[in-house]
Parts: sequence; structure tokens; C-alpha cells
Amino acid sequence: MGAESRRGRHVEVVMASSLVKLGADANEVVRAELQKQISLQNESLLNLAESIARGTLVQKNEEIAHLCIELQSSQEVLQSAIQERDEWMSLATRLYEMNQLLISLPPMNASNAHAHGSSTELESTGSCNQALNMEGRAVGKTHKHPSLVCKLCCVHDACMLILPCQHLCACKSCEIDLTVCPICHTAKDNAIEARFG
Ligand SMILES: [Zn+2]
Ligand SMILES: [Zn+2]
Repeated sequence: MGAESRRGRHVEVVMASSLVKLGADANEVVRAELQKQISLQNESLLNLAESIARGTLVQKNEEIAHLCIELQSSQEVLQSAIQERDEWMSLATRLYEMNQLLISLPPMNASNAHAHGSSTELESTGSCNQALNMEGRAVGKTHKHPSLVCKLCCVHDACMLILPCQHLCACKSCEIDLTVCPICHTAKDNAIEARFG
């Protein structure tokens, strides 16, 4: 009985110690597992935060790109508005110049007729007068200065104002072929039709 109980105690001790060892092993396993889980979770949290940050960054970049496009298009609108304004201004300037010219025309005619009545200008267009007389168009229109007859065909009225020199020197059909002013030889930039009355 004594020996048996001693053996039994020995078995208990061995079992207890192996249980303790088992428990310690289990603890170690659980701790290692927990640490693994924690580090995995940390990693996934880190990844999540990184992906959120990256997503926000991408979104912000897209917003910036969109704003850039908007800025560019509004700059284009501004540019075309400026261009339009310049075109209107140049048109207004031309109209103003034409008005000035038309205002200054009648006294110019009178002074030319008196001061340069037999000037070289009149001589050079003498053939024009002849042509006009032959057509009978100049009859009763002797007050009309020869410079108002087309310098090229010497037949039709000069009604086209050459720009930028502003010489009124060609008829509508002759003006089309002009590249330079026939009076001052300035390169023709444009021509507008002058209207009288
Ligand atoms: Zn002509
Ligand atoms: Zn000219």
C-alpha cells in the first residue's frame, strides 16, 4: 500500500510537472500566435492607412488637374475676349480714320483745285479727263478733282480707300488686283469703300 501510494504520488508529480510544462508550452504557443496576430493586424492597419493616404493623394491630384484645366480654359476665354476687343478697337480706329478723311475731303478738293490747278498731278491724269470727256461723264462735273477718278483705269470713280496710307485712288474692280498704293506705293494692308452722301 505504501509503495503503491508512493508510486501513485510519483505519477501525480510527473503528471503535474508535465501538465505545467504543457501549460507553459501552450502559453508560449498562444503568446507567439497573439504576437503574430498583432503584427499582422498592425501591418494591415498600416496598409489601410497607406492606401487611404494614397487614395486621398490621387483624389487631390485629380482635383488639381481639373482646376488646371479650368484655369486653362478660362485663360483661353480671356485670350479670345482680348483678341475680340483688339479687333473691335482696330475696326473703330479705321472707322475713325475714315471719318476724319471724309471730314477733310471737301476743303482738300477745293485747295487742290486752286493751288494745284495745273500741277503735274493734273497733267499726269490728263488722259483721264479726256476719257471722261469722251464718255460725257465729266460734263457738268468739272469741279470734280481728277484724283477722284481711278488711277488705274482712269474711267471709274475712285471709291476705294487704300489702307494704311488712306489714298482714295482706285475703283472697286481695279482695287482687287492692287498690292501697293498706286500713288505712294505703300503696301496695301486693306481697302474700304468710301461713301459720299
Ligand atoms: Zn479702275
Ligand atoms: Zn497711298
